[in-house]
Amino acid sequence: MYLCYIDGEFKKPEDAKLPISDLIIQRGVGVFEVMATHDLKILMLTPHLERFKNSAESCGIINLPDVEFMKKIIHEGVLKINKDVRVKAYLSGGDVFDEATGKFTNPRFFVIFEAQDVVSNETRSKGVILDPVPYGRDDPNVKSVDYRKTYQNHSGTFETLYCPDGEITEAGHSTFFLIVNNILITAPLNRVLKGTTRAAIIELAKSENIKVEERCPLWSELAGASEAFITGSVKKVVPVVKIGGIVIGNGKPGTITQKLSNLYDKYISRWLE
Ligand SMILES: *Cc1c(COP(=O)(O)O)cnc(C)c1O
Repeated sequence: MYLCYIDGEFKKPEDAKLPISDLIIQRGVGVFEVMATHDLKILMLTPHLERFKNSAESCGIINLPDVEFMKKIIHEGVLKINKDVRVKAYLSGGDVFDEATGKFTNPRFFVIFEAQDVVSNETRSKGVILDPVPYGRDDPNVKSVDYRKTYQNHSGTFETLYCPDGEITEAGHSTFFLIVNNILITAPLNRVLKGTTRAAIIELAKSENIKVEERCPLWSELAGASEAFITGSVKKVVPVVKIGGIVIGNGKPGTITQKLSNLYDKYISRWLE
């Protein structure tokens, strides 16, 4: 960790403290965003902060700092460190739950600036294994700090994959895509988090005349699928070659995945702010 912003100022990580009265600690009430930077610019800053606001509001967290202020703090932190970092912004439940309105009225806004742990080229070229679980996330539209359900991974797997009732929604920290008969399938926005990378990948696929279906991929489709991948702001596009005991396609990263990954890298500056 390089730097924090908390209590209205930038602090060294060892000086950044959160009181134990905060409901993020006591009850797990809080939302967050993870952002990547490239050339000291922030990837998808506006969509991330829109989602941040929506997540907070869905949890009853109100009186947020305004978006322009949050943007200023995030830019300032990155410039202070003067290298590309991973930015994690949080809104905690704060110390107060107002019974009358059912709202958390005094959230704490804090930001962590830390090393960007990029996925290695070796992992990208081999592809990863996902660990399926037979349930979904509680509030699909909220990026809540409660990630307990993602800590079930068996060793050697990269992330959890949520598969409630024979459908596949999303991965633990990422959007999931499946390719069947050259059609790109990903869950619709009423079932999953509104991934910022998801939006970019769908846009690129459409520009390449790849057909996109926004519906939950089915567990029963895995056996006939040719490719799969997951996306997220820091990991970008990561090929998936196995889900539980099921090998996807020929067990190697696929060509459509590679193409979309290359296009995303090529055009990434479009989404920098
Ligand atoms: C953070 C996260 C994502 C990725 O969102 P991006 O905006 O692409 O970084 C997707 N799904 C879940 C469940 C997440 O927590």
